[in-house]
Amino acid sequence: MKYIDLHAHTTASDGTLTPRELVAYAAEKGLAAVAITDHDTVEGAARSGELEREYGVEVVPGIEISAEYFGYGIHILGYFIDPASPAMARVLDWVLGERERRNRQIIELMRADGVNVSAAALRERWPGAVIGRPHLAAALVENGLCASVQESFDRFLSEGKKYYRPRTYLPLDTAFECIRAAGGKAVFAHPLQYGMGERALLALTKRLVDAGCVGMECLYSGYTPEQSEYLRGIARRFGLCVTGGSDFHGGRKPHIDLGSGTGELAVPYELLERLRGW
Ligand code: AMP
Ligand code: ZN
Ligand code: FE
Ligand code: FE
Repeated sequence: MKYIDLHAHTTASDGTLTPRELVAYAAEKGLAAVAITDHDTVEGAARSGELEREYGVEVVPGIEISAEYFGYGIHILGYFIDPASPAMARVLDWVLGERERRNRQIIELMRADGVNVSAAALRERWPGAVIGRPHLAAALVENGLCASVQESFDRFLSEGKKYYRPRTYLPLDTAFECIRAAGGKAVFAHPLQYGMGERALLALTKRLVDAGCVGMECLYSGYTPEQSEYLRGIARRFGLCVTGGSDFHGGRKPHIDLGSGTGELAVPYELLERLRGW
């Protein structure tokens, strides 16, 4: 049986492996395919073709975009996207500008407290990365204010905490249009991560399907067989293709491994074939 991982981050966003290291690691793990799905950027995915040839692992160019739904930041995965799409680039430029605006606010708050951090230092520390809260959390650790990135989030960067600032997410329909314009297929990421009850989850799923969603990430790190089965039921009901991935971030989330997640994950290759034909 061949296995795959359709959800992985690289140094282009908040993963710790470069695209090359990620694909090499996928090869080492014996995976048949891996998707590069960085937050709000295709810089890593743009290397897909070259890395696929080099390592003999199928590499799916993807993205993970945050979009707004009643105040929630919903994550939408895009697969088989053209990283050179100008329409997608225009949308991502807006997202990056909005992230920079929010980063500046957070940096100002931290500096007012004497934290040694600046936009320039972050860019130098994480070259080419879409800078977000994980990097700001790391800065708190490096300043000795927190022992871990998790503690930084818990004490300072989670919603409602001192250094939290909201960012304006893309309108839901814009996120889908941009994936479609880049020739991609849109998938609802980790549906159980939003803390929604069943009614809300079903309403959201319907809204996403209406916007052009074709798949649901039913297999995900930490989801029990019962939870995955529950999600498969919803996917079936809405005519969605079932997908799966670990949300690998390398050393930033060391408890999650590529392919196997927290140990239980196994995504058969067949799901990629089905998504391709959906
Ligand atoms: P941003 O897109 O800049 O708001 O950062 C979001 C990322 O921060 C997510 O993809 C997670 O990897 C991470 N994150 C968000 N909330 C937490 C939390 N409470 N604990 C640890 N990591 C978090
Ligand atoms: Zn991430
Ligand atoms: Fe996500
Ligand atoms: Fe992710």
